[in-house]
Amino acid sequence: VATKRYLFTPGPTPVPPAVLAAVGAPVLHHRSSDFLPVYERVLGRLRAVCRTENDVLLFGASGTGAFESAVANLVSPGERHLVVSAGSFGERWVAMTSAFGAEVDVLRYAWGETPDADDLRARLGESEAKAVWLVHSETSTGVVADVRALAAAAKDAGSIVVVDAVSSLGAVPCETDAWGLDVVVSGSQKALMSPPGLGLVAVSAGAFAATGSAPRFYFDWERTREAQEKLDAPFTLPVSLVAGLDVALELLLDEGLETAFDRHVRLGRAARAGVKALGLELFSPDEDRSAVVTAVRAPSGIDSGDVIRSLRDRFGITIANGQGDLKGKIFRLGHIGWFDLFDITTQIAAVELVLADLGVDVERGVAVTAALEGFSAEPSRA
Ligand code: PLP
Repeated sequence: VATKRYLFTPGPTPVPPAVLAAVGAPVLHHRSSDFLPVYERVLGRLRAVCRTENDVLLFGASGTGAFESAVANLVSPGERHLVVSAGSFGERWVAMTSAFGAEVDVLRYAWGETPDADDLRARLGESEAKAVWLVHSETSTGVVADVRALAAAAKDAGSIVVVDAVSSLGAVPCETDAWGLDVVVSGSQKALMSPPGLGLVAVSAGAFAATGSAPRFYFDWERTREAQEKLDAPFTLPVSLVAGLDVALELLLDEGLETAFDRHVRLGRAARAGVKALGLELFSPDEDRSAVVTAVRAPSGIDSGDVIRSLRDRFGITIANGQGDLKGKIFRLGHIGWFDLFDITTQIAAVELVLADLGVDVERGVAVTAALEGFSAEPSRA
C-alpha cells in the first residue's frame, strides 16, 4: 500500500513548503501590529494578481462563499439576471442566484461546450439583465471560456459582469480592469497555491454602486471594504491562511504572471500529448487555453472511478472524477498552481500502468515521451 501522497486534483492543489511553513508559524492576533503588514501586503498582492486597481475583499470562506457574497450584494428579489452555464459551476450559480430570488435567464450549453460571445450578445438583445454571471474556467469540463469576449458582449448590453475565476486566477490570464470585469471571485486553494479557506472578490466601483436589497451581514461588501481600508478586519480572519497566502502570492509574482501563464499552457500541452499518446480520448478541448485541468474520457467499459481508486490505492495519487452526469465517465488531471512537468509525467505514467492493469489496450511506453515533448514547445503569445 502506497504511503507517499500525490495531490493532482484541480483544487485543492499542492502547497509549497514555504507556504506551509508560514501557515504553521505561531498565530498572530488579527489586529496586532505583527499581522497588519501581512494583511496590507496580501491585499496589495491580490490586486496585482487580479490585475486591478479595485478593492479586493478577502473573506474566511471557500470560493462558493466568496461567490455568495457577490450574489447577496448584487441580487435583489425579482430582478433579471443572466447566467452562462456550461457545467457544474455554471449550474451552481443558477441555483444560487435563483435562491436569492432573481429571475434567472440561463444561456445553457451542454457540459463540455465552450460558451460563445455572439450567443450571449443575441440573448441580451432579447432581454436585458442586471448582471451577467460567467465561469472563466469550468473545472468540471476543462473548458476555459473567452471571458474577454463574453465580458465585452455583456458590457455592450449595459450589464454588470461577474466572473467565477476560482480555478483560473493565477493560471490563465484574467485581466480584471483591462477586460472591464466588475466582479472577479476566486479562492486560495487552486492556482494560488495555498490551503483551502480563503475566498476573495475584486469589486469595481460600478458593482459597489449596484448593490441591492438582499439580506446580508458577514458577506456585506461595504462592511469589509470599509474595514480593509483601515486594515481593521471586521471579523477574525484565518490569520494563518493569510500568512500562507502572502508567501504564495510572493512566489507567484516573483515567477511573474506571464511566466506562470506560459508554464500552465505547457503543462496543459504535456498532459494532452500524454493522454493522446495513450490512445485515450480527450473530453476537454485540445487547445492552449485549456490550461487548468485536462479531462479525459474513460475507455469504453471502464468506470473512471475504478481508475481513480486504483491510482490512490497503488500509488497514493489523487486525481478527480467527473461531476454530475460525467461521474464515472471522465477523469480529470489537474495542473494549476505548484505544478511542474514531472507532476504531469507522474500522472501520465501512473494512468498508463493502471489502465494496462485494468485490461485496457493502451499504447505502452510512449506517453511520457509525448508529454515531455508537448511541454518543451515554446508557447506562442496570443
Ligand atoms: N468555481 C469553480 C470554477 C471551481 O473550480 C470551484 C472549486 O471547487 C468552485 C467554484 C467552488 O469553490 P469552493 O469549493 O472553494 O467553494
